Amino acid sequence: MSGRPAAAGRGKPDYMPGDWFQERLFPHVRQSFEVTRVLFRERTEHQDLVIFETPTYGRVLALDNVIQVTERDEFVYHEMMTHVPILAHGRARRVLVIGGGDGGILREALRHRGVERVTMVEIDRAVVDMCLEHMPSIPGKAFRDRRTDLVIADGARFVAETDQRFDVVIVDSTDPFGPGEVLFTEAFYRGCHRVLSPGGILVNQNGVPFMQPGEIAMTMKRRRRAFRDVGFYVAAVPSYYGGFMTLGWASDNPRLRAVPAATIARRMEASGLRRTRYYTPQLHAASFALPAFVLGHMGGRGGR
Ligand code: SAM
Repeated sequence: MSGRPAAAGRGKPDYMPGDWFQERLFPHVRQSFEVTRVLFRERTEHQDLVIFETPTYGRVLALDNVIQVTERDEFVYHEMMTHVPILAHGRARRVLVIGGGDGGILREALRHRGVERVTMVEIDRAVVDMCLEHMPSIPGKAFRDRRTDLVIADGARFVAETDQRFDVVIVDSTDPFGPGEVLFTEAFYRGCHRVLSPGGILVNQNGVPFMQPGEIAMTMKRRRRAFRDVGFYVAAVPSYYGGFMTLGWASDNPRLRAVPAATIARRMEASGLRRTRYYTPQLHAASFALPAFVLGHMGGRGGR
């Protein structure tokens, strides 16, 4: 590949040596992506935003030097973060998405014919605008759906103040630093509990346990103070380095974590959710089976 990719916006971040993007989420370990073109790059009022093209993952969005979403593997995370809570709930009508600026969660939630409204609270308008412009395959038409309510605000403030109620809350946030840090606090989880209707479910992006074990114990402790039943389920997202990802789970009813695959299959059929690329009812049920080291970080057990 000839020459350095043309960079849009101001200068180039120090994590793009030559024609490579180096993610530096972890100390002592980096993952690099060959860059064929930088499509957009800007320091927004909240974070460093870059969208670039790669031979392996297609177009990639990174925020503050952390990979957020790639065209090639986004379906894994977006299907598991959305269909597991909605089909476990069984009668989800109103969904709240916190973060999720690329529109992937929104797109998947709107595939359920029973979902009447998806409120998405995203702090950075630039993420929505730039994903619509440079990664349109991810949001698709989701932002134009009549059931979509896009709110540009801090998610923590929204759950503390809104008088709306939701059946499922999906926290598709960045990692616990910068604008996302507030979305990993006990106050935020209490706010999520407050806005959930009885029988409601909260799920949250909870990092890669092999590389970020501290996030397991941290969020467990904090979610446990707001919810009767807390735990995790897992999904393997290739571009999230370090092995499978844990997705945080919280509700007041332990049975919601153990809905049999046959029931999920019936609900999936009824919801009109046809072709998925990662999610299956069997995988839904199996994804709550956790490795011993993760259970160890949880204090040896899920639930209360
Ligand atoms: N799937 C990705 C992951 O697992 O890391 C997350 C993708 S999504 C782009 C993360 C979004 O969270 C970003 O658009 C960011 O602007 C948003 N965000 C961060 N802090 C926020 C806050 N306090 N309130 C609302 N949105 C926030």
